[in-house]
Amino acid sequence: MICRIRWKEGGGVNYHTAMEIEFANGKKLRLVQGDITKIRVDAIVNAANSALVGGGGVDGAIHRAGGPGIMRELDAIRTQLGYCPTGSAVATGAGSLPAQYVFHAVGPVYHDGHHGEPAELEGCYRKCLELAEERGVRTISFPAISTGAYGYPGAEAARIATHTVARHLEKPETGVREVLFVLFDGGSYDLHAAIAAADFRNQIK
Ligand code: ADP
Repeated sequence: MICRIRWKEGGGVNYHTAMEIEFANGKKLRLVQGDITKIRVDAIVNAANSALVGGGGVDGAIHRAGGPGIMRELDAIRTQLGYCPTGSAVATGAGSLPAQYVFHAVGPVYHDGHHGEPAELEGCYRKCLELAEERGVRTISFPAISTGAYGYPGAEAARIATHTVARHLEKPETGVREVLFVLFDGGSYDLHAAIAAADFRNQIK
C-alpha cells in the first residue's frame, strides 16, 4: 500500500481537525473531529443495537437529527427480519440528515476481546462498505463503533476500523472514494490519528 498523509489544521465549518490519508489510487481516508449528523456524505453509519430500537449516544443523535422516518423504516425491517445480528448492518434512508442513507451497524459489546469481538467489529465495517458498494455510495462516514456504551477499548477499535477500511479502499474496483471517521471527542480523534500515523507512515509516498 502506498499512501500520503496530510494534516490540516482549522478544517471546514463542521469540523476542527483533519488528517487525510491518500492511497496510491487516489482514494482517501479522513479523520475529523465533529458531530457525524452535521457532515454531508452519501451514507452515514450509525452505531445501533441488535433490536434496532434506538438508544443513546450517536444513535440518539442520528434519530433526533434525521427525524421519525428512519425509525419507521427500522420498524419495517424489524417486522421482516426480527433483529440485526452483531457484526452486521441494515440500511435505511437518511430522513433530514445531510445524506442519502443511514447504515445501522451493530457493534459487539466488549467483554475481554476473546469472545469474537474483533471479528464482529471488523464485520460491521465490512458490511457497511458492502452496503455502500451495492448502492453506488462514494462517500461514507463512520463513528467509532462500540467505543461508547459498548465499552470497546479505543485503541484496539481504532486499529480494526482503520485497517479494515484501508484494505477496502486499496482494492482497485471499489466505488467508494472517500471514508470519513468522525470522532466526537478530542481523545478519540487523537487516538485514531496516532494509530493511523504510526500504522500508515511507512507507506508515505
Ligand atoms: P456503542 O453503543 O456502539 O458504543 P455509542 O453511541 O455509545 O455506541 O458510542 C460510539 C461512539 O460514538 C463513541 O465514541 C461516542 O463518543 C461517539 N458519538 C456520540 N455521539 C456522536 C456524534 N453525534 N457524532 C459522532 N460520534 C458520536
